[in-house]
Amino acid sequence: DAPVRRDFIRQIVRDDLASGKHTAIRTRFPPEPNGYLHIGHAKAICLDFGIAQEFDGRCNLRFDDTNPAKEDPEFVTAIQDDVRWLGYEWASLRHASDYFEVYYLAAEKLVEDGHAFVCDLTAEQVREYRGSLTEPGRNSPFRERSVEENLDLFRRMRAGEFPDGARTLRAKIDMASGNINMRDPALYRIKHVPHQNTGDAWPIYPMYDFAHALGDAIEGITHSLCTLEFEDHRPLYDWCVDNVDLAAHPQLLAPLVARGLPIEAGKPRQIEFSRLNINYTVMSKRKLTTLVTEGLVDGWDDPRMYTLQGLRRRGYTPASLRLLVERVGISKQNSVIDFSVLEGALREDLDAHAPRRMAVLDPLKLVITNLPAEHEEALAFPNHPKDESLGVRQVPFASELWIERDDFAEIPPKGWKRLVPGGEARLRGAGIVRIDEVVKDGAGDIVELRASLDPESRPGMEGANRKVKGTIHWVSARHAVAAEVRLYDRLFVVENPDDETGGRTYRDHINPDSKRSVQGWVEPAAAGAGAEQSLQFERLGYFVADRHDHRAERPVFNRSVTLRDTWAA
Ligand code: ATP
Ligand code: MG
Ligand code: MG
Repeated sequence: DAPVRRDFIRQIVRDDLASGKHTAIRTRFPPEPNGYLHIGHAKAICLDFGIAQEFDGRCNLRFDDTNPAKEDPEFVTAIQDDVRWLGYEWASLRHASDYFEVYYLAAEKLVEDGHAFVCDLTAEQVREYRGSLTEPGRNSPFRERSVEENLDLFRRMRAGEFPDGARTLRAKIDMASGNINMRDPALYRIKHVPHQNTGDAWPIYPMYDFAHALGDAIEGITHSLCTLEFEDHRPLYDWCVDNVDLAAHPQLLAPLVARGLPIEAGKPRQIEFSRLNINYTVMSKRKLTTLVTEGLVDGWDDPRMYTLQGLRRRGYTPASLRLLVERVGISKQNSVIDFSVLEGALREDLDAHAPRRMAVLDPLKLVITNLPAEHEEALAFPNHPKDESLGVRQVPFASELWIERDDFAEIPPKGWKRLVPGGEARLRGAGIVRIDEVVKDGAGDIVELRASLDPESRPGMEGANRKVKGTIHWVSARHAVAAEVRLYDRLFVVENPDDETGGRTYRDHINPDSKRSVQGWVEPAAAGAGAEQSLQFERLGYFVADRHDHRAERPVFNRSVTLRDTWAA
C-alpha cells in the first residue's frame, strides 16, 4: 500500500474534498519550453501529477509558451518524454498559446470594466513611476483614459499598428500598494515576433501572471501549485481570476468551444511550496544551457548533468527520483538538500532491484595452475541476494581469470584481507585460491599471478565453508567481454556553485576529473544487458548500460553511483 502523505498541500486538498468545496481535483504542470527539465522540476512533477493520482483527479501538462522568442519545439518533445519517463501521463496536453484569443477577449473585458488601460510610458518611465519598497509609485499620466480610447488603442495594438515597446496594456490596481506586483502591472506587451504555434497571428503577447492565472481558470484547475517565489504574485493571480471571472462570462470562452477544446472554467487557488535545491548542483535552465552551449559538458544528456535526461543516462531511475521527492517532503521552508540524499535514494532503489553481475575494471591475470588449461564450467549465481524472483544465471569459470589489480598486494598494508603472495582468498562462488607465484615483466611490474584452487573448497562442498579473510570478484578471461566503463564524478567541486562572491561563477568550479573512461572486462550476462538496464557490479557500484552507445558485442556502462557514500567531508 502506498503511504498516506501528510504534507500541508495534500491536507488542503483533503479538506477541500471533505468540505465539498471541490468534488474533483485538477492540477497542472506548467513548464516553459525554453530548456530541458532538471531535477528541481521532478519535485513539481511528482507533486502535481502525484496529487492528481492520489485523489483520483486529473493533471494537465501545459506548456507556458507565452514568450515567443525563447522557445524551441525540441524542448516541447523532450519535456513530454521526461514526464512520461518519470511515470506520469497527463489528462490533457495544452499550450498557453491555445488560449491567446481568450486572453485577448478577457483583456478587452477588463478594459470595458475600467480595470485596464493602455499606457504610453516607456519601459524606463514605467520603472521610474513604479516606486520602490519604501516609496509608493505614481499614477501613469495615461491612467485616466476613457474606456473608448483604451479599447480603440488596445485594438490597434492587436492590429499591429504600433512598434515594439510603444505601449502596454496595464491593469488598473493600486500604485500605492505595498506589493509592487500590484502597482498597475502590465498585462500585454507589443512584440512583433512570430510564435512557434501561432505564427504571425499576434503582434502582442500576454504577460506571465495574467496568462498563467487565466490558463488555470480555463482548465478548471482547483489547486495551482508553484514555487515560493510566486507568493508575492498571488494577489495579482487572484485579481486576474476574480476580475475576469470566466465562470460568470462564458462568452469569453467561445473561441475554445468553437475549436472543440473541453473547458471546465473555475476559480483556482494558488499554493506555494519551497523549491528543491541540492548542493554541488546548478538548477537553472539558463546555467544548464550555458554548460551545453559552451561545451563544458557533452550535451543535455551528459551523465554529469542535472537535467532529467542527464540523470537518466547516468542511471537514475524514475523510482529513485520519486523516492527523493518523497524524502525531501513538501513545505514552505527553503533548504538545500545534501547530494548524498539523492545518491541514497538511487542506491536504495538499485539495491532492491538491480541484478548483480561481475566485472573487472583494472584487470590482472590470475592463472589457476591445478586446473587443466582447457577447463571450463558454468557456475549458477543468483541474480540478487535477497530477491529470488530475479532468478539465476550461469557464470563461466575457467583456469584463466581476470581479477582486480588492487585485490592483490605484494606488501600488504595493515588489516589487508585480500590476496598476498602465499596467501588465500575466496573467489566469489568458485572456491579458495592460494597465490603461489607472482610473475613480473622486465620493468618489475606484475603481469600475472599463478595460483592453486583448493579442490575441497568448490561450491557445495564441505570445505567451501572454511573461513578465509577475503572474497574477491573475477571474470573468466576467455569468456569475458571487453567493455568501456565510464566513471563519473561530481561536476562541481564546491557545495554552492551558484555562489558568485569574489567574481567567480559556476563555470570556475567545474571538476576537471569528473569524467574518466576505462577498459574493463564484464561477464557475458552483463554484456547482454539491454540499453538502460541497471546492474550492480559486485564490490564496484551500480552501473547502467548506456542508453545510446551500449552494444552486446561492445558494451558501454556508466557508473551511476558507488556502493557506499563517498561524499562525506
Ligand atoms: P528555471 O528557473 O530553472 O528556469 P523555471 O521555474 O523557470 O525554472 P518552469 O519551466 O517555469 O521553469 O517551471 C515549471 C514548474 O516547475 C514551475 O511550476 C516551477 O515552479 C517548477 N520548478 C522549477 N524549478 C523547481 C525547483 N527547483 N523545485 C521545485 N519546483 C521547481
Ligand atoms: Mg518559469
Ligand atoms: Mg526561472
